[in-house]
Parts: sequence; C-alpha cells; structure tokens
Amino acid sequence: MSAEQPIVQQLPLGPLPTNSYIFACKVTHDAAIIDPAWEGKALADHVTDLGFTVTAILLTHSHWDHVGGLVELKEATGAPVYAHADAVPMLQVASDIGRRYGLTLSQPEPPDKLVVEGDVIGVGELRLQVLFTPGHAPGHVSFYAPENNVLFDGDVLFQNSIGRTDFPGCSHADLMHSIRHKLLPLPDETLVLSGHGPQTTIGAERRNNPYLR
Ligand SMILES: [Zn+2]
Ligand SMILES: [Zn+2]
Repeated sequence: MSAEQPIVQQLPLGPLPTNSYIFACKVTHDAAIIDPAWEGKALADHVTDLGFTVTAILLTHSHWDHVGGLVELKEATGAPVYAHADAVPMLQVASDIGRRYGLTLSQPEPPDKLVVEGDVIGVGELRLQVLFTPGHAPGHVSFYAPENNVLFDGDVLFQNSIGRTDFPGCSHADLMHSIRHKLLPLPDETLVLSGHGPQTTIGAERRNNPYLR
C-alpha cells in the first residue's frame, strides 16, 4: 500500500442513478473522472471547487447512463477520454439509445485514447491499471489501483449482484469469466466501486455474493 492515499468520491448521477467517481492525487491535484454519468458541467465545477484539475476521463463502458455527462465534462475540462476500442461503436450511438429511453443526451465524440488490458494510466502520482472485463457490455474495462486497493469495475460486479447480460452485445459466460479471472484474484481488502449501488470489497463478494456460489 502506497503512503499516498487518493481522494475518492462517489457521485450518483442521472436518472438511474449511475455512480460517477473522482479519483484524485493529493500531491499534484490531478484527478480522473470515472464514468461521467450525467451533469458533466456540474461534475467539472465540483472537481474545481475541490481544488483539483481533471486530467483524464475514463469510461468503463459506453452504456448511455455512464456517458450522459461526457460531452459537457469534456467541454469544460478538455481532458482526454479513455475507452476500449470495442466500446466505441456503442459510444457512437449513445445519444440514439438514450432517446429510446426518452432521455436527451449530447452525442460524444470518439475517445482520444484507446486502452487495452495492462495499460497503466497516471493520475498525478497515482496509477490505474486497465483490466479487460467484457461480458456486460462490449469493451468493458475496469480500472484498478493496486497501490491503493481500489477497483472501479463499472457494471461487472456489484454488492451481492452482478452485471446484467440481457442487452445486445452482452455475454453471461464472458461476464463470469471476467469476474472469476480478473476480479476475484484481487486481494480481499480491495474496495470495489461499482457503477450502481454501494461500495463493497472483493472479500465480501467472494464470501457472500449469491451469483458466485
Ligand atoms: Zn452498463
Ligand atoms: Zn450502468
């Protein structure tokens, strides 16, 4: 565990709601936003008020409810957007899909940087590792800070639940493979910060999650 601990904030935003996260370095005051779910301008202002600068916008996947604030956040901060290549086609229709749910969201541009398993993204002096965790959505990735025991896993694993796989492009087999081979091997104390609902830990889910029995 590194001496420097990040600032982590969970912000449930939008109609579902969906968790957006701030992951910030206390030393350099750089911050990443993971999944700008909604209200991108307010999110940007909030980070500024905290005294941080957004230097990276990270997408776990491109379901509309995770990118509803992306255009505004990008406009307000100019920070590069990171996503997996397989998540791009769905990102390109996020606005259309939102409309099917009766919601208006600005159509995002393609990401600035494509990520793959094993990439390391610096946030000031902090490090986030990219884990490829498909199943819930094409190109779903998780962002893992091994030095801080924090995992941002989008819609892969939730407290006592797992991601839905009844949408187009989903695969239950892939989801279970991602959970068993990428997430469950992480240390028990790893804090799991999911796209919806409360935080949990890898150890708690290994013991209690009914979908993993
Ligand atoms: Zn999703
Ligand atoms: Zn979601």
